[in-house]
Amino acid sequence: MSALNKKTIEDIDVAGKKVLVRCDFNVPFNADGSISDPKRIKEALPTIKYLLSKGAKVILCSHLGRPKGEFNMKYSLAPVAEYLSKALGQEVKMAKDVIGDSAKSLAASLKDGEAMLIENVRFHKEEEKNDPEFSKQLASLAEIYVNDAFGTAHRAHASTAGVAQYLPAVCGYLIQKEISIMGGALENPKRPFVAILGGAKVSDKIGVINNLIDKVDTLIIGGGMAYTFYKAKGHTIGNSICEDDKVELAKEILAKAQAKGVNFLLPVDNRVADNYAADANYKDVPSDDIPDGWMGLDIGPETAKIYADAIKGAGTVVWNGPMGVSEWDNFAKGTIAVATAVADSGAISIIGGGDSAAAIEKLGFADKMTHISTGGGASLEFLEGLELPGIAALNDK
Ligand code: AMP
Repeated sequence: MSALNKKTIEDIDVAGKKVLVRCDFNVPFNADGSISDPKRIKEALPTIKYLLSKGAKVILCSHLGRPKGEFNMKYSLAPVAEYLSKALGQEVKMAKDVIGDSAKSLAASLKDGEAMLIENVRFHKEEEKNDPEFSKQLASLAEIYVNDAFGTAHRAHASTAGVAQYLPAVCGYLIQKEISIMGGALENPKRPFVAILGGAKVSDKIGVINNLIDKVDTLIIGGGMAYTFYKAKGHTIGNSICEDDKVELAKEILAKAQAKGVNFLLPVDNRVADNYAADANYKDVPSDDIPDGWMGLDIGPETAKIYADAIKGAGTVVWNGPMGVSEWDNFAKGTIAVATAVADSGAISIIGGGDSAAAIEKLGFADKMTHISTGGGASLEFLEGLELPGIAALNDK
């Protein structure tokens, strides 16, 4: 069943019900213990506010860091409860445990429209093992389960998937948005459909390439993975990053693209550097003329123009992975040129999470994109066409 067909919080009556909501509150902290970037908490607010406004008794849960299955207050969610209390303008009560007496008694005493947060679900090793007994215990706190943690939806854990066996299970607004935008683009894209894939390695993106090659009109390749394709085409690549064991695979992909009539674009020129450093000497050279001892760290200016042209008339753009080492100014031009083209295209633009999202945000293009996924691994698996356990477990409409 398609991910687009899952029930949402609006499809179920939550008034007066205890609702267990799996969020992604895995936020970073400053050295003084304060939250350094509350973005993930803010992203969960629409779902929480909706449930509270409908008179639900809201029991929030999440993981934080890697406490390795043990209670470790370094990974306590207490600072998140404090942040939420301020953001919601009402107290979010903090339980001292996950499925123990504190969580149970707080949950039992919740009134309609009140919220609480249980401790880090990864304080129990059963969480990541998707242990049925632990899932049952979590489920026993509530009457309805809502998954709104897209960032962990590719994990079959107790709080992301297992618990859905025991309760009516629906998605929150965040997951609904992710699946409707990304799922919509994959199932019924506005054409032309252009995919832009970059980043370090072919091996990380092979699943995405294989899935998208059947759907897109144009596939644009940039970043370090381009050099494995160059090698497949018989170019010399100097010291550029290359996965020798993926050269045959690159050949197969090139052949498949040709057979399917996909417009498969590789860089025609590159910015090469004399070493892997932000302040390395650099020059722009044609792609079949990378000098010995130099390495490609960005697409070149000719390529940037060709790629911008290919993106111009797009109906849908899916982008995962920078065109070069965009963390360094001298090698960020290609990524900036492509981001500008995507922003100006008027296309539905979808950016994969993780490094791609970080690059787009750092370069200042975040508000120009239709959708930046909140999940790194999860968005990659979604674009690979895989079924995400945290979404598959939810009830169909
Ligand atoms: P990914 O996580 O696969 O999207 O890869 C992102 C990383 O790829 C970034 O940290 C970039 O610095 C790196 N990257 C992009 N282009 C190159 C390149 N030509 N050589 C080495 N690393 C690259």
